[in-house]
Amino acid sequence: MHNFYDFTLSELEKVIGALGNEKFRARQLYRWVYNQGVSDFSAMTNISKSLRAIFSAMFSMDLPVIKEVFPSEDGSIKFGLSAADGSIIESIFMPEEKRNTLCISTQIGCRMGCKFCVTGKIGFRRNLTVSEIVGQVISVKKYLNMERRISNIVLMGMGEPIDNLDAVLGALEILKNHLGLDFSHRKITLSSVGLIDGLKTIEPKVASIAISLNAADEKKRTFLMPINRLYPIREIMSFVKGFKGSRRIRITFEYILIKDINDSLDDAKELADLLEGVKCKINLIPYNESPYIEFKTPPPERVDRFQMYLLNRRFTTMIRDSRGKDIFGGCGQLGMKYLEEKHNEG
Ligand code: SF4
Repeated sequence: MHNFYDFTLSELEKVIGALGNEKFRARQLYRWVYNQGVSDFSAMTNISKSLRAIFSAMFSMDLPVIKEVFPSEDGSIKFGLSAADGSIIESIFMPEEKRNTLCISTQIGCRMGCKFCVTGKIGFRRNLTVSEIVGQVISVKKYLNMERRISNIVLMGMGEPIDNLDAVLGALEILKNHLGLDFSHRKITLSSVGLIDGLKTIEPKVASIAISLNAADEKKRTFLMPINRLYPIREIMSFVKGFKGSRRIRITFEYILIKDINDSLDDAKELADLLEGVKCKINLIPYNESPYIEFKTPPPERVDRFQMYLLNRRFTTMIRDSRGKDIFGGCGQLGMKYLEEKHNEG
């Protein structure tokens, strides 16, 4: 049996076509499942009974199940979703004035080993499937029950999306297809540590790109993000400068501000010098402290000073506050909590 949510529309057309059925049946199924939220084949009344029986025997409709919900006092909600093998997938819903963003995961754990990240500490467990990536959006959407609409998606939860590129591209296709979940590519952001070889294969209309930079100095970035040895800042910059969509589409740089590590005025100057002349946006994210990592959040005045410097150098710079500080908001914190619980039980 196949999981229905693993199929892009064109893949579904092929599978259904191979059985001798008209391709438009795939579109009908997509409409029922994604547009109307119907996952029971017997309720799909414009499809013959015999065909409905074939589809029920062919496809399972399994989604990750919401196991735990942690509402934060800042309005965000962290979800722990359970995959079929019991792995915990983390998603976080972050309502803002003008948009409601869902941050989703692409892997269980991560092999990038960023020093500031709890998921990096967990290490790599496995890739998520297409259905597990898309399933986070569907399950959270059902939970929110039309009361709050998800307007934006960020692939910024557990895992490095480019390290699971095939499944991520499949999921993005379903997220964007107008018969699928119907998100504009402008509303989807894929955040990467800068795996350039994979990033180069992504067309501008697939998703907006954000690069997690966190330092403008090679040595410091390698300390924070060991992957910098393989994909150093200079290579990231040459990718960004040659980015196909760069005239219209600006790449976002994420910079997690960590107290006394990368939050000084010298760091801000170095960042501004590095990005001089590059059409980009900078998101400053004050570090979200966790019991598992010794790094600290900088005081607000240091964050403001950093931002002010960049604004004075004419960079579009936003402070994106860490959300859900009281609910294991940082990516991987929930995963770590479950691992600890398992360890204690064992
Ligand atoms: S920050 Fe992202 S890429 Fe780095 S270890 Fe954490 S999940 Fe992986």
